[in-house]
Amino acid sequence: MSDLATAAPPLTHLSEEETMFRDAVREFAQTEVAPHVHAMDAAGKFNADIIPRFFELGLMGIEIPERFGGAGGSMFLAVLAIEELARVDASAAIYVDVHNTLFNNALLRWGGSEQHERYCPRLTTELLGAFALSEPASGSDAFALETKAEDKGDHWELTGRKFWITNGAEAGLFIIFANTDFTKGYKGITAFLVEREFPGFAVGKKEDKLGIRASSTTELILEACRVPKANVLGPVGQGYKIAIETLNEGRIGIGAQMIGVASGALAAATAYVQERKQFGKAIAEFQGVQFQLAQMATDLEAARLMVYNAARLKDAGMPFAREAAMAKLFSSQVADRVTSQSLELFGGYGYSKEYPAEKYYRDAKIGTIYEGTSNMQLQTIAKLLLKG
Ligand SMILES: Cc1cc2nc3c(=O)[nH]c(=O)nc-3n(C[C@H](O)[C@H](O)[C@H](O)COP(=O)(O)OP(=O)(O)OC[C@H]3O[C@@H](n4cnc5c(N)ncnc54)[C@H](O)[C@@H]3O)c2cc1C
Repeated sequence: MSDLATAAPPLTHLSEEETMFRDAVREFAQTEVAPHVHAMDAAGKFNADIIPRFFELGLMGIEIPERFGGAGGSMFLAVLAIEELARVDASAAIYVDVHNTLFNNALLRWGGSEQHERYCPRLTTELLGAFALSEPASGSDAFALETKAEDKGDHWELTGRKFWITNGAEAGLFIIFANTDFTKGYKGITAFLVEREFPGFAVGKKEDKLGIRASSTTELILEACRVPKANVLGPVGQGYKIAIETLNEGRIGIGAQMIGVASGALAAATAYVQERKQFGKAIAEFQGVQFQLAQMATDLEAARLMVYNAARLKDAGMPFAREAAMAKLFSSQVADRVTSQSLELFGGYGYSKEYPAEKYYRDAKIGTIYEGTSNMQLQTIAKLLLKG
């Protein structure tokens, strides 16, 4: 092997540590999550026993340093965990995704050492995180947020509403973005670490959704919520930067969720077409069906390469914002196509809730919406392209 080949292994080549980690998550997903997926989807509620297992298995502090009880691992390991969980259940994947790629990443990067000491040990063992930027009137235009933060001398007081907050029903700690000075526009936006028990904080309505039904998505209500001064995350007025940079990383996680969903749908269709007989033979024997499977596998391979590359760029400390936006855009398009094709390959059975295809199809749709819609990814990519 040449030096170059040693220095740059193929993107999809996993190290021994990565292989062991991936296999452990795969085993967990199959034995402990899969049996509950259908019931959780029907009920629109995640099985409460599974979240503690995420913590016990070390899936909730993948990039948190070992001294705080984390795994001291890479973004790439987070991608592997999210992908494997999403192959079985996209809702399970998003609990782990938001906690690691949004919450933990923002806290590690922007939090002070006292905040790290105070929260990291709990975030690796029992405390679930959530990331609250969106509001009823501000989604794509996130920095038009209306939640206000008033300086009350020894504490801040937050008032407003957050909408669409993933993990909202179960989380104990929230990163909440509020504006400390509307006259400064987006430069007034500040991030706060808000505990569920803080006075004036309440979790509101839970959404009944098309897909990722078992993942909780809730409203948050802040009525003069009292937040200690020590719970400002990063500098006052830098919340917009924290949001943008955290979401750049988060998008790689959504990419991982989407390749997991597509991969689960492809595996289900591949098995089904070999069992289902029409015209006296397995439908897998028809070239038309084979070509459809081949196209799905090719799309998935391209999406996976993009997601893995974005994660490896991030881990190498190289610029990755463009690649992350492209990976999120493309993998969600691929998941949309692959799950739709998978459903069609199941024929009428694909339309029934007794088979897995329709759930993959519903779960895929969210990838084009959260952490920036597809249009917002295109806007980011175009901006970077035109900047040269
Ligand atoms: C299940 C779920 C979970 C979520 N979890 C979270 C969470 O944990 N935390 C959080 O903060 N938010 C979360 N969100 C919110 C999510 O990020 C927003 O829904 C998303 O950013 C889109 O915002 P919007 O819904 O207001 O749509 P809008 O911004 O109103 O967009 C509507 C349409 O207009 C298009 N559009 C808007 N502006 C432009 C433009 N300038 N150019 C071209 N097209 C444009 C969009 O692409 C889209 O197609 C979640 C949403 C869902 C559905």
